[in-house]
Amino acid sequence: MIQLKNVGKKYKTANGSLTAVNDVNLSINDGEIFGIIGYSGAGKSTMIRLLNGLEKPTSGTVTVNGQNISAIKGKELRNARHKISMIFQHFNLLWSRTVEENIAFPLEIAGISKAEREKRVLELVELVGLKGREKAYPSQLSGGQKQRVGIARALANNPEVLLCDEATSALDPETTDSILDLLVSINEKLGLTIVLITHEMHVIRKICHSVAVMESGEIVEQGNVLEVFQSPKADVTKKFVSQVTETAGHKESIAQMLDNYPNDQLIKLFFVGAKTEQPVISHLIRQYEVDINIVHGNISPTKSGPYGTLIVRIVGKNENVEKAVQYLEEQGIKTEVIKNA
Ligand code: ADP
Repeated sequence: MIQLKNVGKKYKTANGSLTAVNDVNLSINDGEIFGIIGYSGAGKSTMIRLLNGLEKPTSGTVTVNGQNISAIKGKELRNARHKISMIFQHFNLLWSRTVEENIAFPLEIAGISKAEREKRVLELVELVGLKGREKAYPSQLSGGQKQRVGIARALANNPEVLLCDEATSALDPETTDSILDLLVSINEKLGLTIVLITHEMHVIRKICHSVAVMESGEIVEQGNVLEVFQSPKADVTKKFVSQVTETAGHKESIAQMLDNYPNDQLIKLFFVGAKTEQPVISHLIRQYEVDINIVHGNISPTKSGPYGTLIVRIVGKNENVEKAVQYLEEQGIKTEVIKNA
């Protein structure tokens, strides 16, 4: 368990004191994939450095696995940090060492014997899918393969917590997904806790159980990913959620439909979990004698179930349209009217 209680971090700068993290309270459960999302300057990197003891908080306490990271130093802190590993946006590999030598590096530092190192490197190469590339140098690897080396190296000493610092931000979308899949499989196989920082809601949507949204050093919203998707409260959270739900063509489709039918309303439906699989639309058409024009739709799977939005134009007698919308609400499907601006 990772716990932050009233954590604040101020930096001294030439222009006086700068608050990077302000009164943060956070609990991260063992075995959880926890995402911290925010725009640049929100305080994410500072948070991650507070978690591994690279920075001391100005106020409050950071506890990792029962140990107050903010109070210990020297050998005690070094030992605690063996259990907290990290991967980086730009991989931070040793360029003059091969894949296997990079992975063996933390084992050498920990004083593990050569025979044991070789055995462990073999296991790790297998785990991250780099078999056959052991003798390659980082310059001969793709971005995704470099991050696989980074992950193998981070796991070498069996950490309990893996911190990911924008680990997929330098990768193309397809490679991003394969690295995210690898993180999920490691989380499930090894049961280790993963804390990641990102500015991409796709990453949170795809692999996180819980999320905290940061803005100006504060956590403005946190909770189960599906719940946050369903009812984002802070403006910044709404913006992040729209990164995932408002896919290409979303705005154009709405504008075009409103242009064509200026007197009609469009209705946005929000489906959550099992509701995405129920035939509510066909029921609506039969029961209320309305027609449905689909303007735009999208389903986003999250770790705790699917989340979907559907924008429709409901055509029919006014009273039937009203009843149809009421029926949707009764089914627990949130609705929102989109009008001509
Ligand atoms: P993020 O990772 O979300 O971009 P950071 O934690 O890097 O945010 O930064 C939060 C704020 O703290 C920013 O205003 C940044 O300029 C400032 N900051 C970060 N590190 C330092 C430092 N070592 N000294 C002074 N200011 C810093």
